[in-house]
Amino acid sequence: MTKSQELFKRAVNRIPGGVNSPVRAYGAIGETPRFIQGAVGSSIFDVDGQKYLDYICSWGPMILGHNHPVIRDAVVRACENGLSFGCATEREVEMAEFICERIPHVEMIRMVNSGTEAVMSAIRVARGFTGKSKIIKFAGCYHGHSDALLVSAGSGVMTSGVPDSAGVPKGCTQDTMIAVYNDLESVKQLLEESNDEVAAVIVEPVGANMGVVPPKDGFLEGLRTLCDEHKALLIFDEVITGFRLKFGGAAEYFGVTPDLVTYGKIIGAGMPVGAYGGRKEIMEMVSPAGPVYQAGTLSGNPVAMAAGLAQLKLLWEDQDVYTRIYRKGEYLFEGIQKILKENEVPYQVNYTASLGCIFFTSEKVTDYTSAKTADTKAFAEYFKYMLNHGVHLAPSQFEAMFLSDAHTQEELDLTLELVEQYFKTW
Ligand code: PMP
Repeated sequence: MTKSQELFKRAVNRIPGGVNSPVRAYGAIGETPRFIQGAVGSSIFDVDGQKYLDYICSWGPMILGHNHPVIRDAVVRACENGLSFGCATEREVEMAEFICERIPHVEMIRMVNSGTEAVMSAIRVARGFTGKSKIIKFAGCYHGHSDALLVSAGSGVMTSGVPDSAGVPKGCTQDTMIAVYNDLESVKQLLEESNDEVAAVIVEPVGANMGVVPPKDGFLEGLRTLCDEHKALLIFDEVITGFRLKFGGAAEYFGVTPDLVTYGKIIGAGMPVGAYGGRKEIMEMVSPAGPVYQAGTLSGNPVAMAAGLAQLKLLWEDQDVYTRIYRKGEYLFEGIQKILKENEVPYQVNYTASLGCIFFTSEKVTDYTSAKTADTKAFAEYFKYMLNHGVHLAPSQFEAMFLSDAHTQEELDLTLELVEQYFKTW
């Protein structure tokens, strides 16, 4: 028995499913999760001493690679002053200023502790600001596990095949309407049906929790127009795309301005951080400035802020990073596409910049329904092959591969070689 297997055996007795977040379980794949000892750059090491080339990157935040020395030093220095005060600190002001002075649509920002909290709070503000209660989300988009948003969600919900969660009362989701990703007509219909009672449309500007599903040309622009016409706020959930596609996230990448934006993971460089922000008149609704209550004992935690600020400063000072990882994405995902074509494998490759995936289906994937045509058993076989050859992918068809600045050309070539070997014998 490996050490990971031993740990998992212990874990399942004391942690539901043996993991603290469902996407970490390898159950659907028929494997034991690898328990991780440490990571550096693009490599991650398990407790059995195995090294893997990591395409999870902590689900996005390790855009500069694991254990970056500048970020680590910032954390160590912050720890020397204490771990938490539950009081205001200078670094929180610095963080807010750093983001707001560089991202034009974020005039004010509030730190929270996770992406879930960020989205839940942004929705509350949107409702408080507009005085309306309905929201529109898209099937296959995941916005965290708050009650109102666990409807037709992607990510782990999709992987485990649970349509909605048990324990969510109907009342919590009755104001959540579901549109079809990349289908403006479906949004228009809902907006009209609701008699303009929609407070906000929330979208992952690049769908990254049903596999990777890029927005069609005009989709995000169309949402902007529809929201304006119906006096609904447009919320970009940039928990994955924020500071990844560009410093200004998908909003900058696609040139579409949301009213509110949510961030996560990446602004804490891997520490538990999330944030939501937007126009001043909207954000001034948040307590104690305004009547929309939202709070957090550990929000703006000094150590988390030190890590996040260090990463954001590195990203801002070297924005060529976005060109570099864009090129890596193009090289890897175009390379995979070419291999599939040459070997007459009918599967699809979807990607945007440094986010991408193979869909194990012959259908073009543009939304939740087409994503679900993927053959998850075929994915599981591929996943196991890659894992056994030292490549660490997310254990689900419906998650993205994440690239970092630390991935080298040799590592991308090695990955392509393995993909080719696998599909040659397909
Ligand atoms: N929104 C999006 C787009 C996400 O991908 C996620 C998590 N992957 C969340 C929200 C929830 O974030 P967290 O897991 O930090 O609560």
